[in-house]
Amino acid sequence: MLNRKLLTETIEKFGISLSDEVFLRLDKYAEMLIETNKSFNLTAITDSDGVTVKHIADCLSIFGFVDIPENSKLIDVGTGAGFPGLVIKLFRPDIDVTFLDSTKKKLGFIDSVLSETGMTGETVHLRAEEAAVLPKYREKFDFATARAVAALPVLSEYCLPFVKVGGSFISMKSADSLEEIKSANGAVKLLGGEIAEDNLFNLVENMPRRIIVIKKKSQTPTKYPRKTAQIAKKALK
Ligand code: SAM
Repeated sequence: MLNRKLLTETIEKFGISLSDEVFLRLDKYAEMLIETNKSFNLTAITDSDGVTVKHIADCLSIFGFVDIPENSKLIDVGTGAGFPGLVIKLFRPDIDVTFLDSTKKKLGFIDSVLSETGMTGETVHLRAEEAAVLPKYREKFDFATARAVAALPVLSEYCLPFVKVGGSFISMKSADSLEEIKSANGAVKLLGGEIAEDNLFNLVENMPRRIIVIKKKSQTPTKYPRKTAQIAKKALK
């Protein structure tokens, strides 16, 4: 299903290459995504080159900017059909990935892909702001990731409480999110974080993307994350 040549060329510039084994896993995932998508909406992108670049290469680009040590614990918040969490897992099975989403059916799809590719990982059916107050998940992860879930001030309140002090929250954003990033500075600080990197790059020609790395500097005060209604009413400033 995937265009291997296009994938190889696109991720080469991030210093990443794929073994046959990894490629076959990613290809299986893409095939299952397209098949499942016929009966349950998981993605608007269904053509081979689109899935190759906008889903798989986009998620792999994380490895060009962030060093994720072996056996790290990572939570993908609002993972949907598994982006970027499942791509991370299929590329680096040593990483212990937890997949969180408020939609159960999407997690069912992730469970099927994990099982079909011989991988393991916990799927958590909760809202981020509900899971992040539970001792099992709070400040238990080296990394949190999120793509296309919410604006950065809200997303930081969802994600930073999961991250251990010394860990990082990696936010994948479109290129036009500079104002959004600036507006998140106050919220990030309140939550114990600091925007450490804002990497702007071209995934392919004319497809600019951003990977923002937020470092966890100190514990998140226990009053965060607030309840869903409060977050929706007023984002942190
Ligand atoms: N990250 C995936 C991607 O890039 O394709 C999915 C993006 S989709 C637009 C947003 C996902 O975030 C949905 O699956 C939705 O159920 C989930 N979501 C939104 N808010 C959430 C929350 N507060 N807690 C958990 N999941 C949430």
